[in-house]
Amino acid sequence: MGGTYDRKKRVRRLKKIIIGTIIALVVIPVIVSIILGIRVHSLQIEVKALQEELARVKLESEEETGVYTTGSVETSSREEVETVILEQEPKENYVQYEKLVYLTFDDGPSRNTNRILDILKENDVKATFFVVGKTDEESIKAYQRIVAEGHTLAMHSYSHKYSEIYESKESFAQDIKQLQEYLYRITGVWPRYYRFPGGSSNTVSRADMQELIAYLNESGITYFDWNVASGDAVSGQLSKETIVNNCITGLEGKRECMVLMHDASEKNSTVEALPVIIEEIKGRGDAVFLPITDETVPVQHKMAKQ
Ligand SMILES: [Zn+2]
Repeated sequence: MGGTYDRKKRVRRLKKIIIGTIIALVVIPVIVSIILGIRVHSLQIEVKALQEELARVKLESEEETGVYTTGSVETSSREEVETVILEQEPKENYVQYEKLVYLTFDDGPSRNTNRILDILKENDVKATFFVVGKTDEESIKAYQRIVAEGHTLAMHSYSHKYSEIYESKESFAQDIKQLQEYLYRITGVWPRYYRFPGGSSNTVSRADMQELIAYLNESGITYFDWNVASGDAVSGQLSKETIVNNCITGLEGKRECMVLMHDASEKNSTVEALPVIIEEIKGRGDAVFLPITDETVPVQHKMAKQ
């Protein structure tokens, strides 16, 4: 009797062990999977955040170099954009000219603004300054001088911080209003032209670019991109010769030439290149320099993928 009891006991214990083992084999992997799953998910979120950050940083450096226009000698990893020039009759006043050249300076004012203004004055050339918001006394004088000397004072955002401007339509509108009202207070000119930081074809905006464009339209603001990139803002300085060459070759095949340059404190070679660019373009005999006005045909990018 005792032997049978022991056997039953052993069998029961064996059963327990087998069931326990099976449970362990099933349950442990499930728990491990769940833990790993959670970890993977949080890593994915981290990767996504890093990718977004990388895209923003990349664009900011590209925007500074102005590398992504069609017709430019430079290339970039960015999606190709085509430049749209809205159909318009040639201006009566300028029919004798083959090329209408708009020199545009982004990111100022800076300690180079006065040098640029001096050169423009010496050469009797009017240009356009897409400025950001600065409140120091030198900058205030620079905005005023731009206006006083007949150039176009245009907007390039108050903060120039992509993460803030492109956070939402509201933050975009708020930034523009701040700059527009500030410039008006300082100069008496109500600015109506805008250049998107990164261009209208930028890919970092969290807000829908079409909505931002609609906002500009509602507000009576016209935006301008560019179709000639001087390439002047690569980190480190581009040589004066390269800037001149980019600007001159960039004119080919275009009537409206919207030339992108930068008015930043470290862009000395742009300042050095400017008199040569003006001289060479004047030397063609078929071009006229113009500031942006209501008459100007907007040069606008659009994404090729649309
Ligand atoms: Zn800029």
